[in-house]
Amino acid sequence: MTETIPERLAIVRMRISQAAKRSGRDPDDVTLVVVTKTWPADVVIDAYEAGIRHFGENRAEELASKRSKVEEVLGRDSGIIWHLIGALQSRKTTLAADYADRFHALDRLKVATRLSRRLEDTEKQLPVFLEVNISGEISKAGFDCWQWEDDEEQRKKLQKVATTIQELPGLQPRGLMTMAPWLADKDRLRDIFRRTYRLSTWLDETLLSGSWSSLSMGMSDDFEMAVEEGATHVRIGRAILGPRG
Ligand SMILES: *Cc1c(COP(=O)(O)O)cnc(C)c1O
Repeated sequence: MTETIPERLAIVRMRISQAAKRSGRDPDDVTLVVVTKTWPADVVIDAYEAGIRHFGENRAEELASKRSKVEEVLGRDSGIIWHLIGALQSRKTTLAADYADRFHALDRLKVATRLSRRLEDTEKQLPVFLEVNISGEISKAGFDCWQWEDDEEQRKKLQKVATTIQELPGLQPRGLMTMAPWLADKDRLRDIFRRTYRLSTWLDETLLSGSWSSLSMGMSDDFEMAVEEGATHVRIGRAILGPRG
């Protein structure tokens, strides 16, 4: 990769925009989260100067230290929104509650209640995405939804979890998040994105309160397909920053 961050960013933005238009969507309805895990704070600042305002980190400690470093340079009102996108252990909920502006990988109620307690204490609210396992891979985190269309148990469970979460005072539900399976062919990937979109539509219609219509899916290798299938948040690292060291 010889291009600069602004050049690669322009290409990714154009690809998102074209994918949105292909499926009759407004490109402005897709939030680009640039994933800066493993990259130093300087890289965040470079991307900020290129116009990026949404940054993603997959570990709470790295988010906390990088955010602090970036704020030393840009101040606390830079307009940056920090997304925690990776799984969170329940003993790290305080860090996450204190440093994240969005959380994409909520996969356990224990984590939800702990986050909410801390957020109540600090008088904050955190928008969250529930992570769902649509592929059925055993290694995948997230609530089991791999046969949600045919399995009332899975639907009921998800509904119950979602209801519990929207009643927690510190959390603001936003929608669902999914991780595509490794090494899946294109048809299978598209099917997983489409089924996740349908699940989020179903959930949003089924629950009487809260808004669950956002959808976090798509990474460097598959974001165009995710946008075509309804993603509102794409999480992209390598396609903009280059390979991680
Ligand atoms: C690293 C990561 C991404 C971005 O991956 P790229 O392949 O670099 O685009 C997206 N989501 C999560 C949860 C990640 O950990």
